[in-house]
Amino acid sequence: MTFSDQRKLREQAFEIFVKRGDNYNSNNTNATLVSILQLRAKKAEILGFKNFAEWSLSNKMAKDPQKTLDLMHSVWKPAVEKVKNDVSAMQKIVDDEGGNFKIQPWDYRYYAEKVRKAKYDLDQNEIKQYLQLENLREGMFWTAGELFDLGFKQVFDVPVYHPDVRVWEVNNKNTGVVIGLWYFDPYARVGKRSGAWMNSHRDQQKIKENLLPIVSNNCNFIKGNSNEAVLISWDDATTLFHEFGHALHGLCSNVTYPSLSGTSVARDYVEFPSQLLEHWLATPEVLNKFALHYKTNEPLSQSLVERIGKAANFNEGFATVETISSSFVDMKLHLTTETVDPHEFEKKVLSEINMPSEIVMRHRIPQFAHIFSSDGYAAGYYSYLWADVINADAYEAFLEGNGPFDKNVSERLYKTVLSVGNMIDNEEMYENFRGHAPQSDALMRARNFPVEKQ
Ligand SMILES: [Zn+2]
Repeated sequence: MTFSDQRKLREQAFEIFVKRGDNYNSNNTNATLVSILQLRAKKAEILGFKNFAEWSLSNKMAKDPQKTLDLMHSVWKPAVEKVKNDVSAMQKIVDDEGGNFKIQPWDYRYYAEKVRKAKYDLDQNEIKQYLQLENLREGMFWTAGELFDLGFKQVFDVPVYHPDVRVWEVNNKNTGVVIGLWYFDPYARVGKRSGAWMNSHRDQQKIKENLLPIVSNNCNFIKGNSNEAVLISWDDATTLFHEFGHALHGLCSNVTYPSLSGTSVARDYVEFPSQLLEHWLATPEVLNKFALHYKTNEPLSQSLVERIGKAANFNEGFATVETISSSFVDMKLHLTTETVDPHEFEKKVLSEINMPSEIVMRHRIPQFAHIFSSDGYAAGYYSYLWADVINADAYEAFLEGNGPFDKNVSERLYKTVLSVGNMIDNEEMYENFRGHAPQSDALMRARNFPVEKQ
């Protein structure tokens, strides 16, 4: 969809893709989805709620479905504006090339890539040469030391489940008091799940005795020769910091009960510490010390970093419209208790929000695995947007202070968020940190969307 010059072929691939689960064959999912929705509505009714969304939100940070819809609406308008601008830049390329057509959904990625290349000219391979896995791990340790006074000492006398796994004892670097163990399992191997994630092998607790947390970060990098640096992409480096944020959330926990420990917070809140930590990768402090060219040892230049940032923001209109349209449909599906016709329902919701014709939902109803493969993200797809807002708003606390390494702010983050697990209502916890509820304006600023003056 991004690289093929054959427009007819793109259209064909697109049609097949968006009709998954929606063809006249035995894999059509519509009837199954409708019965899942009916059963959920029934379940909510039995539990004393008006609809499934209200039940599901009752233990989330947002609490009220209307709040999530309000947030979606507030981001929707500027995102659509952004899409309009992007589409006109793409249309200009089409016209200049002598193409006699309007941008269609199967053209979007293809022409967006052309605009991106022309505007930012980024070579991912150039960036990669500065991103050595072990250096970045040291950079994460250093960041945790600067922000939260944590120290890391590699230990060799604990059991590991594979020879690739290494372990560090984590302590308070001022007092030397040990707070937990961090396992690092970076390499791909046969039988390992793909992607990157954090695991809590033992949750911190002190019911009977003080039990320290044991957490791991797991990724799937390709192991090089022992004398060769493992080079990773900017996206992977961001993910590395992200997962380390989850690990810190587990390690810094200081509560009594294991069920309320570390990352056991609401689903729309749990990505906050992890997304927040991603910001430190792009700080000059970290890049100058740890993003060093694998041959020359030169640090990654700030101008290159700025170009990465701008290029990352470039297609935010598309990404936001794609995901928020899915969030709208998800929430509305779970606010209704009537039997729906998936096609009609999708059409109705999308026309209510004036969906741009050049983009389709990221997940159409017949293929919306997030919300139908289990109850986990049902009436919960908004969580990504919600976490984005919290994260953007929280990072501004540092920017309003003395910058990313403002000690007062990081100490407050430790005290009010990272150490308290799920002991306090998540919304209250956030306000303890920030002094106010998360504000969606912060996200608009982070994504370069126009912010309306109040
Ligand atoms: Zn995460």
